[in-house]
Amino acid sequence: MKNITIIGTGYVGLVTGVGLSEFGNRVICVDIDNDKISKLNSGVIPIYEPGLEEILKRNVRCERLYFSSDISSSIKNSEVIIVAVGTPMTDKGNANMYYVDSVVKVIAENLNDYKIICTKSTVPIGTGKKIINTLISDFTEGVDFDYVSNPEFLREGSAVKDFLWPDRIVIGTASKKAYSIMCDIYRPLYINKNPIKHTNVESAEMIKYASNSFLALKISYINEIANLCEHVGADIHDVASAMGQDGRISDKFLHPGPGFGGSCFPKDLESLVAISKEKNINMETLKAAINANKSQKAKMGTKLENLIDGGIKNKHIALLGLSFKANTDDVRESSSIDIIEFIIKKGGIVRAYDPIANDSMSKLFNNISYYDDVYEAINESDCLVIMTEWNEFRALDLPRIKNIMNDRYILDTRNIINMSELSRLGFVYDNIGRIKI
Ligand code: NAD
Repeated sequence: MKNITIIGTGYVGLVTGVGLSEFGNRVICVDIDNDKISKLNSGVIPIYEPGLEEILKRNVRCERLYFSSDISSSIKNSEVIIVAVGTPMTDKGNANMYYVDSVVKVIAENLNDYKIICTKSTVPIGTGKKIINTLISDFTEGVDFDYVSNPEFLREGSAVKDFLWPDRIVIGTASKKAYSIMCDIYRPLYINKNPIKHTNVESAEMIKYASNSFLALKISYINEIANLCEHVGADIHDVASAMGQDGRISDKFLHPGPGFGGSCFPKDLESLVAISKEKNINMETLKAAINANKSQKAKMGTKLENLIDGGIKNKHIALLGLSFKANTDDVRESSSIDIIEFIIKKGGIVRAYDPIANDSMSKLFNNISYYDDVYEAINESDCLVIMTEWNEFRALDLPRIKNIMNDRYILDTRNIINMSELSRLGFVYDNIGRIKI
């Protein structure tokens, strides 16, 4: 059992804190957002993540999990300090290191004893080395530390499961002592199998970027194949499922859609391109994946405009799904943002519904209507657009929808609605890469 402080209690920090306390460690999650910490201390979970609440409350009850705004004393009282603050994208496409840098400063001020400084945030390759140098230059004499890069691979929406049953844990460190302590904090995971990969710091940092970029690239690839399917009489579902049967390809991340979003893929791709530019290495595949994704997001607007007779102006459009994917309230870089902007620009009226993410999106758009019930959003609309693959949209009552809509247009950007029922009911519809029935 180790005493651990996690700095940054967002999607990654909170799930990591909950997971590591579940493994038997004593964890303090800290954040500069006092409101977030107060909420957590009064039992309110600030993010939506399936399964998180139950396990969080259990570990709080067992006195293994704490939330605090007192970052300095939490650092002083812990042996392992995990950095999980955001690394958003700057205007130039690099990772914004402001939050990580300020955390490193606070850590340096509170190094009172041997500690492991571990970065879980996704950071440019070479960051570990810089952090080590900063800490050494701010060194208090007689105090010792080791540095670890431990990138996180959880997915929002299944973060708890991903953390508790990971495919792999990457521990990048030059220190045998730190490696052994890190193995200890993940101990329950390698009783039956050993998912731990020990690398140097730079490889660990690179593994995270290379993995995310590859997945993003796969999505852009299948989206482009889907777009071509629409013009050559092929059906993307048949194509993707047969491709996925090839073990070399695998069936994961072969679902076409409105373009990837979220707080990771877009910024991580851009950041890796920026890193490669600094090293004078040309990474054409990454640039192509970024451009293909931008086009895919824009294409959803064009599809919508082409679908509705007479265009979008003054049309009521029910937009179902605001989060960048199902089972999360996160709307960062969501394709729904692009389509909302497009509809507004074209003079349409947005009637938005999301089971969880209405609040998050209302912080970005206060000029559209939000509904708490999916059928209220659809009521008297001219067109219905599905943007997120929430399960409840798979089971929409189409005959009821036909009765309550003003017109009969449906754009299904996730290919989740049964096309034969749409045709039978007389809807005019479009989707991504499918042969219409
Ligand atoms: P987030 O924005 O949800 O959370 C970051 C938290 O850090 C916020 O609560 C913020 O208040 C806090 N913070 C900022 N500065 C601080 C400081 N000086 N001291 C204490 N707290 C501070 O971010 P996230 O989505 O959890 O992502 C964190 C990192 O993990 C990023 O680098 C991201 O790329 C990476 N990552 C994210 C995911 C994901 O699915 N969200 C998955 C893997 C890796």
